[in-house]
Amino acid sequence: MSVVNTVRGPVDVTELGQTLMHEHVFVLSTEHLDNYGKGRWWDEEARVADAIAKLNALAAKGVRTIVDPTVWGLGRNIPRIQRVAAGVPDLNIIVATGLYSYEELPHQYEHRGPGLLLDMPDPMIDDFVRDITEGIADTGVKAAFLKCVVEEKGLTPGVERICRAVARAHAETGAPITVHTNCHARTGLIALDLFAKEGVDLTKVVVGHAGDTNDLDYLQRLADTGAILGMDRFGLDLYNPTEQRVATIATLCERGYADRIVLSHDASCFMDYFPNEWDMVSTIAPNWRYDHIHDDVLPALRAAGVTEAQIEQMLLFNPRRYFS
Ligand SMILES: [Zn+2]
Repeated sequence: MSVVNTVRGPVDVTELGQTLMHEHVFVLSTEHLDNYGKGRWWDEEARVADAIAKLNALAAKGVRTIVDPTVWGLGRNIPRIQRVAAGVPDLNIIVATGLYSYEELPHQYEHRGPGLLLDMPDPMIDDFVRDITEGIADTGVKAAFLKCVVEEKGLTPGVERICRAVARAHAETGAPITVHTNCHARTGLIALDLFAKEGVDLTKVVVGHAGDTNDLDYLQRLADTGAILGMDRFGLDLYNPTEQRVATIATLCERGYADRIVLSHDASCFMDYFPNEWDMVSTIAPNWRYDHIHDDVLPALRAAGVTEAQIEQMLLFNPRRYFS
């Protein structure tokens, strides 16, 4: 029996149920919040209560687990997530370690590492491994997967060091990886190539945001390595409309790739990229909500010929295998 760590503690993977593989609870900059949010646009109690309500509504749709890749760079704050998790008894929240950077290393790692001013083993690897094996800060909550980014600029020196540290933490712990990629720059291939050279088990890698493209050649090249396609921005129609995302998944299922696809929205209860008073969801992305997949996408997939078994594979068995 395989066990995965969630915010409330270890859970047998067979208990994960329907799993959305890339959802945030909060996306914040902690410095932005501390300096400009408190007393203004951030109300801690109201935000926690709002998150609990939204996630309970998601659980009512039948989802049992969300996988939250909010790491340093996106405002990871585990005590706040623990408060939310305590209010959503029917939903597991799995949290991550790693780093979200499109280009540069945080200065805190810049001078420490092999051959640097402070010549030592890369402290990032230790930090990631500790989050997975001992827990994050003093919360007792263990991360269950690793997150990094390969964006448009590709493997900048900072991004390369982060990705290698993630690969080495994977090698030490066996924790799976989710990598944010840019499909227009085809950076999923760059990420998988680096991971392969580092000896990463590519069946334990989700190529995040793969669903932003309908380029079947690119998607099949990724999936043919054994990696999992993150069809994970349902509702962000400005990147790729739902209709196209559905058609692409239906074709991939027809071609035998249902065992390498996971579904999600990349939504959040609140993100500080936008001000409170500007409601992005009703203004430019009306479908970018946690329930879009269950309300709209699954019926569309069925109508496009995707079978119940394939839907179960994408929502339940692929996440279970990833965390096993
Ligand atoms: Zn995300």
